[in-house]
Amino acid sequence: MKNKGLLFVVSAPAGCGKDTILEQVLSRCENVGYSVSATTRAPRPGEVDGVHYHFRTREQFEQMIADSAVLEYTEYCGNYYGTPRKAVEDMLAEGKDVILKIEVEGAMNIRKLFPECCLVFILPPSMQELERRLRKRGTEDEETILRRTAQARTEIDIAVNYDYFVVNDELEVAVDDLIAVIRAEKFRKGRCLDMLKEIKGE
Ligand code: 5GP
Repeated sequence: MKNKGLLFVVSAPAGCGKDTILEQVLSRCENVGYSVSATTRAPRPGEVDGVHYHFRTREQFEQMIADSAVLEYTEYCGNYYGTPRKAVEDMLAEGKDVILKIEVEGAMNIRKLFPECCLVFILPPSMQELERRLRKRGTEDEETILRRTAQARTEIDIAVNYDYFVVNDELEVAVDDLIAVIRAEKFRKGRCLDMLKEIKGE
């Protein structure tokens, strides 16, 4: 018996470790696909087109918007980011669960389009710890670190609209917790009512 594919949205402030958590979750969950977003931002070192993002020019991205080829999009720090419609719809139709790793505004838009989706917000154990992690990365200057912690506070205020919180204190625990959320959501009564008919042979 197979449940229908379910859409998960995972958001987190920068520095919360969401990329690492998701990498591990995806490597451990066979039936969960990842939606590779399109963006107009330049690739960072090590990022591969089609794997981390679909890197597009502004013109290409605006054409995608005009063609309704993105489910949602936003402008974040001067660049477009959007969720390609077809890839997500195809995976869901195949019965695969899909994770979107997007920011809070996109998450709220996805909730409007897919009211049954599940929104998960990854939190740092504290603001002090978030700041410490951002500094440890050593990639940002002081002004950027302060801007990112202020941004994190605003994003955390929006987290009340999400369905689950996962705190990334210890990586392995956070990974287990997110997997637990994904598994539990699959078994919600409302998501598998058809199962009753199948069991009864109707
Ligand atoms: P970064 O440039 O650090 O990879 O991503 C910046 C922010 O954009 C992150 O919060 C990331 O989750 C978000 N983001 C990535 N792809 C999408 C997308 O397709 N839609 C929306 N709304 N946000 C996205």
